[in-house]
Amino acid sequence: MRIGVLALQGAFREHILALEAIGASAVAVRLPAQLDGCDGLIIPGGESTAIAKLMDRHGFYESVQGRCREGMAVWGTCAGAILIAKRISDGLPGQRSLGLLDIQVRRNAYGRQSDSFEAGLEVKGLDEPFQGIFIRAPWIESVGEGVRVLAEHDGRIVAVRSASMMATTFHPELTRDLRLHRYFVSDLCSRSRLDGA
Ligand code: GLN
Repeated sequence: MRIGVLALQGAFREHILALEAIGASAVAVRLPAQLDGCDGLIIPGGESTAIAKLMDRHGFYESVQGRCREGMAVWGTCAGAILIAKRISDGLPGQRSLGLLDIQVRRNAYGRQSDSFEAGLEVKGLDEPFQGIFIRAPWIESVGEGVRVLAEHDGRIVAVRSASMMATTFHPELTRDLRLHRYFVSDLCSRSRLDGA
């Protein structure tokens, strides 16, 4: 299984290490052509406005959208969740997203950097709680048809999935817990390989 990690800005190194730890082949994606042959793509946390600008500069929008139509799975964490959302409640004027997953997100929903926190989360499909690290995180305000809620915290949606896409508003790559990386690769990416076959 070959998984790309968008390596323009943010916590991409940690995702690459987590993927390698579970035996997946991880590619740091800096140019759209590197998406070829990827079964899945992780868009990391960081700063969504900065990642959006760099994606635009390098021509990523159309290529990611095109690869997703061909069945590539995608997981957005934190800023990555904002970037794959169809709707952003309080995006900056002109802030562009990939519009891939039918969710509405609110940026910086918990407040400032100093309002960052950790919390144990019950995640559907995992038997033990997962420690969520929320750093100036968004939350998910609503989900469309076909999008399943995987976890909530304090009544707010913090993890969702559809058939081939997943969004978490926290940072699993900053923990030693590899369960969500395993879940993405085995449940979403392998399915995309079957669908594409
Ligand atoms: N607040 C950031 C944004 O809007 C997201 C923070 C993060 O990815 N940890 O892009």
